[in-house]
Amino acid sequence: MILLTNKHSWHMGGDEMTEDKLTVLKRYFGYPSFRKGQEELVDSLLSGRDAVGIMPTGAGKSLCYQVPALMMDGVTLVISPLISLMKDQVNALVQQGVSAAYLNRSLTEGQYNKALRNAANGQYKIIYVAPERLESRRFISMCENIRISMIAVDEAHCVSQWGQDFRPSYLNISRFIALLARRPVIGAFTATATEAVRQDIIHLLQLRQPTVVTTGFDRPNLFFSVLRPERKLDALLSQLNRHRDRSGIVYCATRKKVEEVCDKLNEHGIAATRYHAGLEDGERIRNQDDFVYDRKRVMVATNAFGMGIDKFDVRFVIHYNMPKNLESYYQEAGRAGRDGENADCILLYSKGDVQTCRYFIENSEPNPDLTAEQNRLFRKREEERLKYMIFYCTTSDCLRNFMLRYFGDEFHTSCGKCSNCLTQFETVDVTIEAQKILSCILRTGQRYGVKMIVDVLRGMPTERIIANRLNELSTFGIMKESRSAEIRYIIDRLEEQGYLIAVDLPYSILRVTEMSYPILRGSAKVYIKKTKQIKAREDTAFSGDPVLMKKLKELRTYFAMRRGVPGFVIFSDATLRDMCRVMPTDDVQFLSVSGVGTTKLEKYGEAFMGVIRDYLAEQKNMP
Ligand code: ADP
Ligand code: MG
Repeated sequence: MILLTNKHSWHMGGDEMTEDKLTVLKRYFGYPSFRKGQEELVDSLLSGRDAVGIMPTGAGKSLCYQVPALMMDGVTLVISPLISLMKDQVNALVQQGVSAAYLNRSLTEGQYNKALRNAANGQYKIIYVAPERLESRRFISMCENIRISMIAVDEAHCVSQWGQDFRPSYLNISRFIALLARRPVIGAFTATATEAVRQDIIHLLQLRQPTVVTTGFDRPNLFFSVLRPERKLDALLSQLNRHRDRSGIVYCATRKKVEEVCDKLNEHGIAATRYHAGLEDGERIRNQDDFVYDRKRVMVATNAFGMGIDKFDVRFVIHYNMPKNLESYYQEAGRAGRDGENADCILLYSKGDVQTCRYFIENSEPNPDLTAEQNRLFRKREEERLKYMIFYCTTSDCLRNFMLRYFGDEFHTSCGKCSNCLTQFETVDVTIEAQKILSCILRTGQRYGVKMIVDVLRGMPTERIIANRLNELSTFGIMKESRSAEIRYIIDRLEEQGYLIAVDLPYSILRVTEMSYPILRGSAKVYIKKTKQIKAREDTAFSGDPVLMKKLKELRTYFAMRRGVPGFVIFSDATLRDMCRVMPTDDVQFLSVSGVGTTKLEKYGEAFMGVIRDYLAEQKNMP
């Protein structure tokens, strides 16, 4: 067996180095090859050149610094903003046989002293620290006595005031680096791609002619859908039913909604827990752990949940309400499928969500640090961003395409992996219906919301209609034959296309716009798209035997509980699936499973192969 040497591997010739980094990749992480962008970043760092990796969530940024860290002499410091993230990452590394540790305020004084001593003795190859730590005298003097060969700045966008997650202590990183006797090579990693943020990262971290690798924003394993259900709860339940036994997140717009939906799910026998900023710390942490450790399969949460949750096997993210912009949506939805396996991102859209978002924007407190003019511009930008979010929900074009174009990625063909690509639309002329609706709104004095208008059009003699004598109008009952859902559908499309506008939120009074007059005069036509047919979704589901998968998962749970780590730290779903495909019964075969490295083979190989051997024996004995 070839033993890996950590020493000076980057001084070796080209071929040997290739072998080395691939050996490290397999031995510790269990992967046979690099993903897009990873190798270039690894090579840059190994050659001593700074690097910036801009890759979407789940692309595998950690490996870009972990692989070189294991090949370099000395220690790598990883600066990471969140304590919970550090713990999970270090847990995972230790499981993979890497000597790693973290230093942050979650440690007791004793633990911290011990870790610091170990660090000074060179026991760790990789040390995770929170940025605040870089100001601590004791930490600095420890660093002066060890050889730091690399600094990896994770979530590097936190250095930028332009981003949403600005952390002032990230600004101290460059000062800290200047204190070191030898400047280590620096790698910075983020999923935020805007130019301003990227410039900030390079300047504020004082990177030296870094290699910049951007891999694009597509997440090919995510399936995007937008649904417009008449009853959201039913739609949610049916989605959860489709995803039986899998874990996922349901995002709601408000705390109240979170409570309501979570209760309902539990009433329906679904193991759901909740998370929002109104809960006490204790409960929040407990609920988060229940989800991460698979004790509860569904997390119902506001957008307070997510940053810093390293759960790779989230199989679906369902938005019960539309978020206020595509940036938030892509970030939240992107928490699905970080292990690279297929996952679903579903948005349950309703017009009411638009009104809620508008209401939030219109009633948001002005930022006291900005001038009145800046606040006005800010609000305007929020409105603009909301418009694109609504377009996303209402377009019949490829959803992935739409989103990637919004983020400035080039993407041309239809993806074939979103609800619009699987839907055949037909274009229908609704000019007559539009004329009826628009004139009804005008005749009733532009004073009512959608429910009233629909009732008048359908000729419903409700109390309010009689009291206001709307039943005497010529538009009363002119759409008697139509279902109310149909009329509402057309009204929604008219609003999206700008023929109608809802004012006086949250009452949403319907008013016609300039655009409507040509329609009423009969000099222009209105078309809308209607669903004609939905193609069956190609199920790339798992082809192995679910019975074996279930047994392997049980064994994983057993080890996870014993070691007090989440299941995916032992083996990811992707690895278990590959195990079902390969059915390894000896060490060499076991090592060939994606995600199995030497340490995992040693720790878990026998146990998992035992289950597989039993399974194969049972199969053989079956008639
Ligand atoms: P990011 O930080 O970019 O969001 P992570 O570094 O957390 O992503 O990696 C996401 C997942 O991808 C992890 O489960 C990781 O093990 C896996 N992964 C990373 N690189 C590879 C690779 N080359 N082959 C297979 N899986 C990989
Ligand atoms: Mg990461």
